[in-house]
Amino acid sequence: MADLESPACEGVLPLVPRTEPWMEDLLADPETCESLIEEHGSPVNVLDFSPLARNAAELTRAAQDEGVRLSVYVASKANKALGLVDAAREAGLGVDVASFAELQQCLDAGVRGRDLIVTAAVKSHALIELALESGAVVSVDNLDELEDVSHAASAGGTPARLALRLASSDPSIPPTRFGLTTGQWDSALTGTESGTVNVEGIHFHLNAYSSDERAVVLREALPWVDRLRDAGHPVAFIDMGGGIPMSYLAHRTQWTSFWDALAEDTGGALTWRGDNLGLTDPAAARPSSQLYPYWQAPVRGEWLREVLRAPGVDGALIAQDFVARELELRCEPGRSVLDGCGMTLAKVAFRKATSDAVPLVGLHMNRTQVRSTSADFLLDPRWVRPASAGEPSEPVEAFLVGAYCVEDELILRRRLRFPNGVARGDIAAFINTGGYLMHILESASHQLPLAINVVRVGGAWARDRIDATR
Ligand SMILES: *Cc1c(COP(=O)(O)O)cnc(C)c1O
Repeated sequence: MADLESPACEGVLPLVPRTEPWMEDLLADPETCESLIEEHGSPVNVLDFSPLARNAAELTRAAQDEGVRLSVYVASKANKALGLVDAAREAGLGVDVASFAELQQCLDAGVRGRDLIVTAAVKSHALIELALESGAVVSVDNLDELEDVSHAASAGGTPARLALRLASSDPSIPPTRFGLTTGQWDSALTGTESGTVNVEGIHFHLNAYSSDERAVVLREALPWVDRLRDAGHPVAFIDMGGGIPMSYLAHRTQWTSFWDALAEDTGGALTWRGDNLGLTDPAAARPSSQLYPYWQAPVRGEWLREVLRAPGVDGALIAQDFVARELELRCEPGRSVLDGCGMTLAKVAFRKATSDAVPLVGLHMNRTQVRSTSADFLLDPRWVRPASAGEPSEPVEAFLVGAYCVEDELILRRRLRFPNGVARGDIAAFINTGGYLMHILESASHQLPLAINVVRVGGAWARDRIDATR
């Protein structure tokens, strides 16, 4: 399977990632990979946002098939590159911002206020003022925040455009720190100075990826829309947040085989020091909820169709409840619309073994640079060998380690097989890291600089504006 151009790297049990054509083009060009690292340092995040529009269109088309108007607001916290904001604007998508800086950057990039929603979990006065001034919708979380927003709106003389963040009261929905219940909001609104706020929508965002849970909360929100409208609020949309699922892996069978094998792996053949990666129930060979389901189905469009075809509140389907109310559906996908947009390249620094003879490959990067809240990133890297790489080692099975001075500094926690050996100057390519993996937890600990982000525009790679001053 491996040729000299692309030496192999795979898990002892392979987990082969899905790729995009732009990724294959770059991986087939080791000299360009090397020059990107030469110029920008290791690791370097490479981004091509062309799949964004296609991913979002899959959602809008699925909704349209059910007769529902869907607007997509890309969750910008999933990737900090300003190329994402440009791509969202060019595709006619909105943006969901989670901080003052994200809001300011979107406005600077020419995104209109009405195409923005502010969902920051904690909102400064400066953020609230900028949101009101720009005409963005503010998702309000609690009563203190409502007071802040309503004061700022009074002072500014323009009513705030609000979405109320809904904390579901349904017993089947896990408790949440976000939002308030319908009852809490209803009593709060009676006390709000009239003319300072317009409730234009209802907002929620759930953990995990269950279409059933989205349907449950939509069934809770729909009758509330009717009550708010009866009370005179111009409610025009329900925003169901993000958490729209995607799959990273090419093959379902590799995913299930991996978990079956891990449940049996008492000797640590598969993982670092026998880490079970949060396997909760060895009998069922299932990952815990601390781990992203790197293979899942249905995803995106098909998943959304499931939500809209779930039973509604008027004896028909949820889709029909939206149509009957002339309600718009909104969503805030991050990860699932960034599918196919990013890759992280890092250079091999050294080969060695631990004091107890476990082979290691050291990379010029640290583990916060391909990391999310998931217990591990369960995709095999691709391996690139530039002409300048040194003499490859013998075939080896090894773990990837990084630059932080801790024993547990593993880049990936699975044992990898290198049938063509490993050379100094080889490049590890982590696939599909555009959604969260490259940015959400990256740290500059040890005063190691953050990775540079390069974006492909018109066939050439250019430093993203987020790194313009570096
Ligand atoms: C993080 C977040 C999102 C994006 O979630 P994904 O899982 O990336 O789709 C959307 N909305 C809110 C409020 C969020 O906090």
